[in-house]
Amino acid sequence: MIPVKISIKEKQSLYIKWDDGSESLIGIKKLRRFCPCATCAALRETQSKSFIPIFGEDQISIYSINKVGSYAISISWKDGHNTGIYEFPFLKSLSENL
Ligand SMILES: [Zn+2]
Repeated sequence: MIPVKISIKEKQSLYIKWDDGSESLIGIKKLRRFCPCATCAALRETQSKSFIPIFGEDQISIYSINKVGSYAISISWKDGHNTGIYEFPFLKSLSENL
């Protein structure tokens, strides 16, 4: 599945329209919390399930979104973090578990 449209809604969530006509809405905080890069994955390993992350404004503000090949997007955050590659199935799964 491939996004045909991606936009940010009111700085709160990422909206994706897929090529099959379905739509996803993913909270920006959730997107940051589940950043798939190695650094963030390692950090999550050390946290308990009840851990509630507190993010600064820049950490949950998207600076830019770039396509990675035909399978993913990368997100640059305002705090400079930009190593997370979000594959499309992963985005889909994030939105379904809201
Ligand atoms: Zn990360």
